[in-house]
Amino acid sequence: DDSGNYKESHQFASHMKDNEAVSDFAMEKTIKQQREYLPVFACRQKMMNVIRENNVVIIVGETGSGKTTQLAQYLLEDGFGESGLIGCTQPRRVAAMSVARRVADEMGVDLGQDVGYAIRFEDCTSEKTIIKYMTDGILLRECLGDGTLDQYSAIIMDEAHERSLNTDVLFGLLREVVAKRADLKLIVTSATMDADKFADFFGGNCPTFTIPGRTFPVELFHARTPVEDYVDAAVKQAVTIHLGGMDGDILIFMPGQEDIECTCEMIKEKLGELDEAPPLAVLPIYSQLPSDLQAKIFQRAPGGMRKAIVATNIAETSLTVDGILFVIDPGFCKMKVYNPRIGMDALSIFPVSQASANQRTGRAGRTGPGQCYRLYTERQFKDELLRSTVPEIQRTNLANVVLLLKSLGVDDLLKFHFMDAPPQDNMLNSMYQLWTLGALDNTGQLTSMGRKMVEFPLDPTLSKMLIVSSEMGCSDEVLTIVSMLSVPAIFFRPKGREEEADAKKEKFQVPESDHLTFLNVYLQWREHKYSAKWCADNYLHVKALKKVREVRAQLKEIMQDLKLPIISNGNEWDIVRKCICSAYFHNAARLKGIGEYVNVRTGIPCFLHPTSALFGMGFMPDYVVYHELIMTAKEYMQCVTAVDAIWLAELGPMFYSIKESKQSRREQKMESVRTVETMEAEMREAQKEMERRKEE
Ligand code: ADP
Ligand code: MG
Repeated sequence: DDSGNYKESHQFASHMKDNEAVSDFAMEKTIKQQREYLPVFACRQKMMNVIRENNVVIIVGETGSGKTTQLAQYLLEDGFGESGLIGCTQPRRVAAMSVARRVADEMGVDLGQDVGYAIRFEDCTSEKTIIKYMTDGILLRECLGDGTLDQYSAIIMDEAHERSLNTDVLFGLLREVVAKRADLKLIVTSATMDADKFADFFGGNCPTFTIPGRTFPVELFHARTPVEDYVDAAVKQAVTIHLGGMDGDILIFMPGQEDIECTCEMIKEKLGELDEAPPLAVLPIYSQLPSDLQAKIFQRAPGGMRKAIVATNIAETSLTVDGILFVIDPGFCKMKVYNPRIGMDALSIFPVSQASANQRTGRAGRTGPGQCYRLYTERQFKDELLRSTVPEIQRTNLANVVLLLKSLGVDDLLKFHFMDAPPQDNMLNSMYQLWTLGALDNTGQLTSMGRKMVEFPLDPTLSKMLIVSSEMGCSDEVLTIVSMLSVPAIFFRPKGREEEADAKKEKFQVPESDHLTFLNVYLQWREHKYSAKWCADNYLHVKALKKVREVRAQLKEIMQDLKLPIISNGNEWDIVRKCICSAYFHNAARLKGIGEYVNVRTGIPCFLHPTSALFGMGFMPDYVVYHELIMTAKEYMQCVTAVDAIWLAELGPMFYSIKESKQSRREQKMESVRTVETMEAEMREAQKEMERRKEE
């Protein structure tokens, strides 16, 4: 009898609450038991012997076998912590934070003390830290300050199969480091794919150790016909499983935050319509979710009710939740891919690879025999999915990588030892972008501008904006704008109160610029003494704004180190717009129709987003620059600022030299429009020329 069961477990839960001490004790015991139950524990001695005897070791094991949480602890218990830090890299920030917290719990220490983590703009380590989890991007930046990573005695490059851009670059760099440092232990871990490739990369005598798996059979179901709406189909499947008689938690994969939120809502709604539905804990997880909510997926649901976790790719190999017996896989993921048509990266939804699909299936068989529901047909699996995912380095903009490697003294990038070399096109395009930003000179050498840019943990465009702002005397303002752009979702729009939220937002809007709108929000928050209540009243995420303040302080420090003065120019926001224009030179667009623009460089149409401050203001500037393009039904410009044609003309001297003139303002204006048009033509020519050269 379901309701009886439910009641009983409820009583149990409240009993636990009244007895904190007892429950803590019970927790501790289970943690130890959990550690010893992991597959890696059974082969610990054998594995550690191999690690002791070799400088570089590849460790292969099923997801959930204990690589990420246990390896660093084993190294510590083996004495590696005495001569330096034990570092462990993760491609995803959520994983770095979550795993560090788990390991701190397992060791019974406070997070940030013996065990800590570092991700961009957030360093949760201290003098005491011995085990440091971090994103691969952080370790990559540490190479800049210390080429041989002397503070580490051991480095675990975790999740290598993920082939993230930064991990791939680290591979090339660490290959050199281990050749120089006999005292450094390098461990590369991977789920079951690609191990031989990693071993080959580090030369012949690098052993591979495989952790024997413990997996249960998974029954696999494919859709009979192609599915039209994967959110709909996933919701239906989840509800069917939940109402069916079998126990076990459900894991649903979705490409991104919007789909996840929608799926969660729909499941709750569907179950709400039924009278007798047993309770279900529906839990989202994605990178932008606040960390206290992220932690929920690992906790026992109240009363021991079934959990349905709706996750991005992060649950594919990075995070393992025990107790999953059902997997629902729509077969899609979000990826950043360089789009040659628009000449830059765009985040879009793609079918997963066969290797990914199989990993996802495997998630159902960790604690017992499970089931996996693929929302695509068997034929689609065979005919439409790539065998394995294309490594990020072969599909994204490399401007940051180029900047970093150049400043590490790697002159000929085409000769750098990559595991899989990026396509020459991408490399040259990225170099071209850096050249237009003034970071590289005509011979491909780093300029002094480029050397300053690399100091910032930002995209080249934003670092450029900061540096220029100092010269233009508006760095105080631009510092705020750049910080706002580094933090997602400032405004919020709760269900049922959309109109009120929109009205509040409108009050902040500066008609000619989304960037200035951001600035305006921050300045008003500052005026209100950084009040949390004020944020809530104005439908602003207080956590996000606090983060902006932290990011701002960190960027300010870097500027001061570089002796870039922090100056405010008060209300002269035209200068701020000009500064914005100087950095987004690449993303300039000209008005073509109502709300419709074309990129001046590529001629690609792009549209004002309805959430833009410029939208529906009865005002359409002739020229705008934008932060990024998002591809949905249309190509929308995200975060837009109106600019003057004359600025573009002035700022593009590599394409066009402007003539001094003594015309009237009106004539000047027309002249500059002509200038920009000529410049556009020249830019297109330059791009074509580049392509011709590539073909040769
Ligand atoms: P692998 O790296 O081999 O995939 P992990 O070390 O990540 O394996 O996971 C080992 C175990 O630790 C899993 O059973 C997982 O459920 C558990 N675990 C990992 N992170 C957490 C967490 N934050 N809370 C609770 N359990 C966790
Ligand atoms: Mg792992």
